[in-house]
Amino acid sequence: MIITDDHMHIYNHLKLKALEQFKNAGGTHVFLVNLLSKHYGLKPNKPEDFLEIFEKHIRLVEKANKIVRAFAVIGVHPAEITLLGDRVGFERAAEIMKSALDLAGRLIEEGRAVALKSGRPHYKVSKDVWRLSNDVMLHAFEVAKDVGCAVQLHTESYSYEGMREIAEMADSVGLKRFRVVKHFSPPKVKEFEDLGLFPSVICLNDYALTAAKEGDRFMLETDYIDDRNRPGAVLGPRTVPRKVRELLRHGFDEDFIYKICVENVERVYGVEVEEICP
Ligand SMILES: [Zn+2]
Repeated sequence: MIITDDHMHIYNHLKLKALEQFKNAGGTHVFLVNLLSKHYGLKPNKPEDFLEIFEKHIRLVEKANKIVRAFAVIGVHPAEITLLGDRVGFERAAEIMKSALDLAGRLIEEGRAVALKSGRPHYKVSKDVWRLSNDVMLHAFEVAKDVGCAVQLHTESYSYEGMREIAEMADSVGLKRFRVVKHFSPPKVKEFEDLGLFPSVICLNDYALTAAKEGDRFMLETDYIDDRNRPGAVLGPRTVPRKVRELLRHGFDEDFIYKICVENVERVYGVEVEEICP
């Protein structure tokens, strides 16, 4: 059976062992997302500095592919505007982030990664920084539209209104709404269906089960951060396989799991999720 975690990081704690745990628990496919520049000990002040992050991440994903089938998601975390802005000013920060997204787009075109990462801050920021963050996210949508890839978004907490605003931004540049993935989604499968955006449901509490009861248009993730200071945060690498087994126990069949772990993933990201023969 194919079991996909839609959003995980590898950083400084278990590293690739996290993927061994995922695999031993039954996990087969994973989307690995690059972290913030500070996690790589970098202080970027030009777009090309992000290339170093992307290249490092892609090399890590290549290694990960010896354990499970891993896909690289690359881009610029929205909190980067605060880190960069403190050094170079917020206007310049937004420019750097946009150009870095262009560079990420090129790597995706070359087939070295499959999707972009963008979004807008999840914490309170000034009106100016909010506006600039929206500009950056809109640019990510333009790049995704040009390249023909999906965008994983890190955003403020879910609200229908907020998500609708994002959906309309995608419309404005001609990016299909289903290619916009809300990472860390609550299990509001029906609302997302209505919005057209695609939810990557975080496996907290009974979210997976609640999502499944609403429909099959979602993916599952742990947002495992692999930080030695926060071991097991947000959720451990075995969580998605465990939640999938829980769904099976509750009567959701393997076709249902195939839908959320294979068909949805293939449609959203345009990748092939093939059975891997170890
Ligand atoms: Zn994350």
